[in-house]
Amino acid sequence: MKPTYQDHDFGITTIDTAYLRPQLAASHLIVENGHAAFIDTGTNYSVEHLLAVLQDKNIPLEQVDYVIVTHVHLDHAGGAGQLIQQLPHAQLVVHPRGAPHLMEPSRLMAGVKAVYGEEKTHTLYGELPPIPAERVIQAGEHYELDFQGRTLLFLDTPGHARHHFCVWDEHSSSVFSGDTFGLSYRVFDTEQGAFIYPTTTPVQFDPGALHASIDRLMTLPVKQFFLTHYGKVDAHLQALADTQHQLIDEFVGLVRKHSDKGEQRHACIMEDMIAVLLSRLQAHGCQLPEAEMRDWLSMDVELNVQGLEFWWDKTQAIVS
Ligand SMILES: [Zn+2]
Repeated sequence: MKPTYQDHDFGITTIDTAYLRPQLAASHLIVENGHAAFIDTGTNYSVEHLLAVLQDKNIPLEQVDYVIVTHVHLDHAGGAGQLIQQLPHAQLVVHPRGAPHLMEPSRLMAGVKAVYGEEKTHTLYGELPPIPAERVIQAGEHYELDFQGRTLLFLDTPGHARHHFCVWDEHSSSVFSGDTFGLSYRVFDTEQGAFIYPTTTPVQFDPGALHASIDRLMTLPVKQFFLTHYGKVDAHLQALADTQHQLIDEFVGLVRKHSDKGEQRHACIMEDMIAVLLSRLQAHGCQLPEAEMRDWLSMDVELNVQGLEFWWDKTQAIVS
């Protein structure tokens, strides 16, 4: 099997985890001094792709030191258990709020099955083996990991999820941002650069926290972000941050606008969010047929609307 991956400077590689479609979800590999660390793993079905990249690069399994997951959503961490089983010396690095779910995945899986059903959960993610506690490093705010002399700094970045951290790699001036710095598919790149929008997935989306986390990342002397969805963005970073701030507010405005629509609420917000993103894609100079744009946006918009509604209902319950 030939994995799809792209090498960057500083020993960083974007690997396609082959989740749902090409160039939708990535794992990142950092190689230093002949040793390797993964950041995000994809699902169980991605593990063979990650191992094939190691083989391609002649990195022995024994020389993978760390498997880092930005948060425990399954397109990021679903493969961690099986991957760790293949890597005799690797430690898992995870946010303290996410760690219990990977050491004992039954509650996490029950939540996923509640959303997707038993059959689709199996097709998308398979079963997660528990990860033994002695192989787990819980990286809280400002945890510093010495990876072969290359310091990786962990920043607690809630907003997309409370169990989310980002990884600052000073050596390459890079942030590995998981889902905190939004979604930017390479298929939407134009001469204007990258297209980006925030992800407001259930059940822990928090707009105030997401604004603050994006601002915090931008205080770093960052030259490039590596996004799980998808790969490197390295130009107009402040504009990309500004766009996300605007869209978080616009999305929140859509739930407010349609809050009294009852059973139609979900469909109304969906329609408006698609329209907002399509018009921004047009302004961005995207030449794809509209059907293809909708096809790329539809899953994220569905999840975004679910997350916004969940947050809204929770907030209203507190207010009233
Ligand atoms: Zn996520």
